[in-house]
Amino acid sequence: MPLSALKSENQITPELEAMLLAQRSAYRADPMPNRATRIRRLDTLHNALLDHSDQLITAVSQDFSNRAAAETYLTEIAPLLDGIAYYRKRLKRFMKPQRRHAPLLLQPASTHVFYQPLGVVGIVVPWNFPIFLALSPMIGAIAAGNRVMLKMSEFAPATGALLQTILGKIYTQDEVSVVTGDVDVATAFTALPFDHLVFTGSTQVGKIVMRAAAENLTPVTLELGGKSPAIIHEDFPIQEAAKRLAFGKCINAGQTCVAPDYILCPKNKLDAFCTAFVEIVSKSYPSLRDNNDFTAIITDRQKARLEIYLRDAQEKGAELLPINPTNEAFDNSRKMPITLIRGARDDMLVMREEIFGPILPIIPYDSLEQAIEFVNNRPRPLALYYFDWNKSRANDILTRTHSGGVGINDTLSHVAADDIPFGGIGSSGIGHYHGKEGFLTFSKAKGVLRKGRVNTTRFVGPPWDNLMYRSLKKFQKLRHRRR
Ligand code: NAD
Repeated sequence: MPLSALKSENQITPELEAMLLAQRSAYRADPMPNRATRIRRLDTLHNALLDHSDQLITAVSQDFSNRAAAETYLTEIAPLLDGIAYYRKRLKRFMKPQRRHAPLLLQPASTHVFYQPLGVVGIVVPWNFPIFLALSPMIGAIAAGNRVMLKMSEFAPATGALLQTILGKIYTQDEVSVVTGDVDVATAFTALPFDHLVFTGSTQVGKIVMRAAAENLTPVTLELGGKSPAIIHEDFPIQEAAKRLAFGKCINAGQTCVAPDYILCPKNKLDAFCTAFVEIVSKSYPSLRDNNDFTAIITDRQKARLEIYLRDAQEKGAELLPINPTNEAFDNSRKMPITLIRGARDDMLVMREEIFGPILPIIPYDSLEQAIEFVNNRPRPLALYYFDWNKSRANDILTRTHSGGVGINDTLSHVAADDIPFGGIGSSGIGHYHGKEGFLTFSKAKGVLRKGRVNTTRFVGPPWDNLMYRSLKKFQKLRHRRR
């Protein structure tokens, strides 16, 4: 059946259709790539990342008009190298069929789970970490034996074009192919009947993508956004909290899905926190406009959106604290200072929308209970950060709040921990990748039961009024009776 027969109202283009068909038939020719093939695919990517890291850093910076080189290395390239090493080391164990229990009633029999590649995985990539968010799910999909089609973001065109060239050199089109283009291409891409679709982007577009995937019953992993809170416990040293939070907020100028979106700070520590935060950020970025360490906003449109948030907050009575140590002007520049907001309220855009930029509202709280309630009264976030040396209180936060992931006494770094799953919950996403969970996401865990030469149903089966069946029933009743 041609793919177009399966399409919804979204137009599948012939080029995309041909690409998917080529990948699908290559997959059928080698439906269970062995470990050596998977490792070869991962290793060539590993070497390409090492060979082209400088070019990649330059391309991302071009897309942002400036992105700190160290940020691209530390948040995109380094975790990918580690991610490849992680799967390389564990692939044998992950691929091994797992023996499982077979119930007495079915004996003699053996059961196992067979981890089968799904086929062709589609991956839709946002602009904010365009290398990591393209290749990190791809590494999991390749490790699990799949073919991959990537749709890069139209807002990171230099990175998209470079990845297309690099991946085009190391993979055949039917192993990995890269698609670039605008929303129309993205719409057509997500209408393809992939065997699995990973979408990373906004919650709003995530809903559209899930609808498109539903037409084909394509399973989805949705890596979405939201407002990730940080709670500082009263006992935690406020200077240290400010230091750790500033790092997580300033990376990529706050354009990070897991950046702290707002801070819940003990009321009596609010002044101290703001003072410390301003001091730390000013030291890290003594100037902004021409400072290559300080990343710019991706587009004029995104900058305008953030400026609207600031204006709205100010007009509604909030106090803005822009951290601009040398009082620079930012006309004709896509840079924006990190701005703390005091007095933010629920009716302000900064508290209603995901910020995704260099703005940080600080919300005072009186009791930890109040802070927990504040978080629980809002949609479930992608990340939650809690600052407290007390382990039992931190464990309590784990059980009393929901979020995709948690950072205790740190920000962002849980995303780079290979061995734990990464993914949202509720409006921040569905499903996971990274770690063993990532391998499972991109595999069909197929349950298999095997019987041998002895066929017990021969003795138990119909006509049902036989001694074996009656004895079996009696035995089962005795076995399962709970006293
Ligand atoms: P976006 O939702 O606007 O776009 C993401 C991708 O979807 C792009 O490749 C785009 O081409 C495509 N797209 C746009 N409209 C589409 C449509 N109608 N149908 C199909 N595809 C479509 O998001 P963005 O602005 O690129 O990224 C910012 C958002 O992504 C933020 O909300 C952020 O929190 C989220 N994000 C989440 C994660 C995560 O891992 N959970 C990571 C990074 C970013």
